[in-house]
Amino acid sequence: MTEKLSVEIFNENYPIIKEKIAQAAKSAGKSEKDIILLAATKTVDIDTVNFAIKSGIEYIGENKVQEFLSKYENYEKCHKHFIGHLQTNKVKDLIGKVELIHSVDSLHLAKEISKQSKAKGIVSEILLEVNIGKEQTKSGFSVNETQRAVEEISSYGNIYIRGLMAIPPIADEKQKNRNFFYEMNKLFVDIRDKKIDNSSMDILSMGMSDDFTQAISEGANMVRIGTALFGRRNYNI
Ligand SMILES: *Cc1c(COP(=O)(O)O)cnc(C)c1O
Repeated sequence: MTEKLSVEIFNENYPIIKEKIAQAAKSAGKSEKDIILLAATKTVDIDTVNFAIKSGIEYIGENKVQEFLSKYENYEKCHKHFIGHLQTNKVKDLIGKVELIHSVDSLHLAKEISKQSKAKGIVSEILLEVNIGKEQTKSGFSVNETQRAVEEISSYGNIYIRGLMAIPPIADEKQKNRNFFYEMNKLFVDIRDKKIDNSSMDILSMGMSDDFTQAISEGANMVRIGTALFGRRNYNI
């Protein structure tokens, strides 16, 4: 059996994903244009990433700083986001190079982003990560502390809060995550309605390969998809 090239896998999957997004958007009373597809490109080689960009992918997200920096000079023109856990000591290497950091999971991290952004004379755009499943193994703000965190971070300076991000628990039953997505959207809308300074709350980043249609049905306007676009990869390398 010959292995399929990753560009072939992408070519097969991309139109299917686009169609599913369009359907889900429609069922949520939206247009496909309202939903941003972000390709999660961890472990995907730069040639395949660039092939995807030339095929129409406009947003990419990396989840390791080192991998992002190693690819950074070589990406075709695209919107570059950071979606993985960010260590405080890596902030200075990352900011200014990414358009949006999805994974701000503590006040401490936000403070460092503010500090380094001030030093560079830029404003960094971020999402706050919410630990919607209350998982011990995951970082992020609890539902109850998220609004307070937006208020606090909005006072730091050189940071602009675009919205919220969540990674719900790995689902054993489909309906479960739907409830998490519903809860996330409620939180998102509640905070948006408060019109807090230095925040627009216009991005709700949730939904991955296995659950993006549910996420869109419950209000996501940015989905992060890896496996369903590029095929299964070995994350342990
Ligand atoms: C890898 C990754 C994704 C995409 O996950 P898939 O299940 O491969 O679609 C989304 N978000 C984050 C933060 C990731 O690290």
